[in-house]
Amino acid sequence: MGDFLLVTGGAGYIGSHTVVNLLERGSQVIVLDNLCNSNDAVFDRIDSITHSQAVFVKGDIRDRDCLAKIFSTYPIDSVIHFAGLKAVGESSQIPLDYYQNNVYGTLVLCEAMAAAGVKKLIFSSSATVYGEDAPVPYEETMPRGKTSNPYGTSKAMVEQILTDLCASDPEWSVALLRYFNPIGAHPSGLIGEDPKGIPNNLMPFISQVAVGKRKELSIFGNDYPTSDGTCERDYLHVMDLADGHVSALSALDEKGAHIYNLGTGKGLSVLEMVESFKRVTGVDVPYSFADRREGDLPAFWADASKAEKELDWSATRTLDEMMEDTWRWQSNNPNGYDG
Ligand code: NAD
Ligand code: UDP
Repeated sequence: MGDFLLVTGGAGYIGSHTVVNLLERGSQVIVLDNLCNSNDAVFDRIDSITHSQAVFVKGDIRDRDCLAKIFSTYPIDSVIHFAGLKAVGESSQIPLDYYQNNVYGTLVLCEAMAAAGVKKLIFSSSATVYGEDAPVPYEETMPRGKTSNPYGTSKAMVEQILTDLCASDPEWSVALLRYFNPIGAHPSGLIGEDPKGIPNNLMPFISQVAVGKRKELSIFGNDYPTSDGTCERDYLHVMDLADGHVSALSALDEKGAHIYNLGTGKGLSVLEMVESFKRVTGVDVPYSFADRREGDLPAFWADASKAEKELDWSATRTLDEMMEDTWRWQSNNPNGYDG
């Protein structure tokens, strides 16, 4: 398919894996990224995997002139919008930056889209919008709940803004994709998650301990009301998540705002993740138990049936593949894109 897609944040973790899928299906891809949390070395890696190239524009989604130029230069059909800040803890320290990037940035993007007559958008939302009190599994029909940090609130606000936009103008079609916990890497080992500084998320922390960059994993809490006392999450392979965007593109033929959970439908505990990593890679991961992390919920996972029914999408990669692919990426690139 020769469609033209603008991918904001396409140099980042989920964006880069999605760009690979899009190039492989024959789309023309323009990536807009300010590289605040990524590295442009990713583009050579994407070329090596796909033998085709995305156009990279280094710029900011808040820059109206930059967006206007992109829309006047390329015949963009749809936008996949990954760009934003995503560190939950940091969002409580610098909330204005989070609302600036995530909320204001999306407003500027939508205004530029409207001006260019481009009204198809896929937005990276998060399971966090279900809030603190939702029963599991999370279903798309549940109302958004009380979020516990500015990051989560920014996602909920953008969901509402995009829903209002669709209600105001029936030409818009928007997919609000609520991601659960993406992990893993492209099976080539050429692209993967490359967090700056100390990883906030579990899987990069485990793999950095395994590769010898960090001494041990702190497991945040072992007294939760779960099977082994550690928190449970719905981990899905980032390549499955990338596939979900390709599937969602076809749903954009239908007008209005559509919400989809992208997860496996199954929760796994922190200890189960550590044990699977050890079993699959044969590498030890020393850990100790620490206090609970503020704001963590005990357990949540997706009801993933709507995406299966309406998008013909489901997460197919196994936990073993998630572990193997994480380790291939981390062991081949101990310092991420810096070598
Ligand atoms: P990431 O940080 O790797 O990618 C985001 C990219 O956006 C980065 O390359 C960054 O440089 C770029 N960016 C940030 N602000 C920008 C701006 N103002 N203008 C242009 N580029 C900008 O993060 P990711 O894990 O790939 O996440 C992608 C999206 O998915 C984010 O919106 C995130 O909130 C959302 N999400 C991620 C997860 C997860 O676990 N990774 C879960 C739920 C939702
Ligand atoms: N976690 C942990 N140690 C870490 C990082 C995460 O025990 O160094 C736990 C965390 O408490 C949560 C799970 O791993 O229960 C997943 O955390 P992550 O930050 O990856 O995802 P999220 O909490 O955003 O779902």
